[in-house]
Amino acid sequence: MQKTFIIFFGPPGSGKGTQAAKLAAKIKLPLVSTGDLLRQEISKESELGKIARKYMDAGKLVPDELLEELVSRRLKKPDAAAGVIFDGYPRNGEQQEFLLGKLKVAIRNGAKILGILVDVSDEQVIERIGGRRACLCGAVYHVTFNPPKAEGICDRDGKKLFIRDDDKPDVVRDRLKTYHKQSRGMFDYWEKSGKLLKIDGGQPIDKVWEEIEGKLESRINLE
Ligand code: AMP
Repeated sequence: MQKTFIIFFGPPGSGKGTQAAKLAAKIKLPLVSTGDLLRQEISKESELGKIARKYMDAGKLVPDELLEELVSRRLKKPDAAAGVIFDGYPRNGEQQEFLLGKLKVAIRNGAKILGILVDVSDEQVIERIGGRRACLCGAVYHVTFNPPKAEGICDRDGKKLFIRDDDKPDVVRDRLKTYHKQSRGMFDYWEKSGKLLKIDGGQPIDKVWEEIEGKLESRINLE
């Protein structure tokens, strides 16, 4: 397959992580979720993780330099050679500039790059995040819309699920404000270059996936 970079955009709780994981499994590209990379740094108690934690618990964006370090490290791994699916990165104009700079040579050499916006209203975000449960392995569930097989236990690794500190209601409101302020401005680039697929993220998971598959079919080889 042609070298491919796909970037998922959308507010917190839009379900973009779930969809990005489905797509990664389908087209066999690694999923790079900066939220997961940061949570792994926190659980390792690395220096980067210690700094990041303060921002994450407060629902704030982690400083761009830390993300640059994490993303650069991740893109150097051999499995990223065929491309990557990003979830949660970039999240502001500076990060976007950085990423496009990193991918410049690949794009010049014919790599495919596409953005997928999973759009959801603020009200829906608040309702959804209230029921969200996470596992350190990166799996995410919802108590009603996407429950694990056994309550409170991860299907993948059998570990106990938890509510992320940044999923608490006040923090979610702050995260939405940040999203509207910082992320929205990035879409110009994608829209103007005809590289943004807009998806209605308010539908059930399977329907969102169908819409993504349908819209991607004419853009990349899904087989
Ligand atoms: P997520 O799992 O994508 O919802 O991310 C959880 C938290 O990690 C965010 O609220 C931020 O504090 C931090 N984070 C993840 N990705 C980024 C990013 N690209 N830039 C800055 N902070 C990020």
